[in-house]
Amino acid sequence: MKRVAAGKFPLSLIDSLLNLLFPPKCPACKAIVERQGDFCEKCLKKLSKVRFLKTMSPNVRQIVSVAPYTGGVRELIADIKFNKQKGKASSARNLLKEYDSAIPAYPRGILAVYVPISKERLKERGFNQVELIFKDWLAVRDIEALEVLIRKRDTKPQFNLSPKERKANIEGAFEVVKDVRDRDILLLDDIFTTGATVYECAKTLKEHGAKDIFVLTLSSNK
Ligand SMILES: [Zn+2]
Repeated sequence: MKRVAAGKFPLSLIDSLLNLLFPPKCPACKAIVERQGDFCEKCLKKLSKVRFLKTMSPNVRQIVSVAPYTGGVRELIADIKFNKQKGKASSARNLLKEYDSAIPAYPRGILAVYVPISKERLKERGFNQVELIFKDWLAVRDIEALEVLIRKRDTKPQFNLSPKERKANIEGAFEVVKDVRDRDILLLDDIFTTGATVYECAKTLKEHGAKDIFVLTLSSNK
């Protein structure tokens, strides 16, 4: 597997000057780091927790989480999603680059699908954070991403709801808009908690003939 190391290019003069004026800081502990978006060595080691989660859905074959939902990752995702700090996504991309070798290999021809956000939220936020986080990594892995799923309706944010409410909230929320028959799917999301969202996506994809469904999430509190 080709591994792209972060931080191998020399800083330009402008970057060096900017770094002097606004020293880049580790998003977890605020220690000074070389480049904007870098985690410091110490935090990077702590975050190195790529792991397999137990799947609770017959429609999902495998779930992999890249980092724990702590140590700066939680704040990072909140900044990207709710404070619209698009630039912070570079830290998330660095995590994926750093841990790429621990992320499993996927079947050839697998199709990447970002868990979609609603039209309303997309309009308000201006981007789907999941795409922002995973796009570069997918290019490194040579995995094609397509807009296969759309959200038919806006749903309440899941974090305030009980597991049962989450399931009801998300049920029937997705629609498949491209042909997925006999395709392996790599479902991508930013956070995995109860799994209600990805399980619902997987169910919908299976109903439309998808083959094996794998889930990769940037973080998880499991
Ligand atoms: Zn740090």
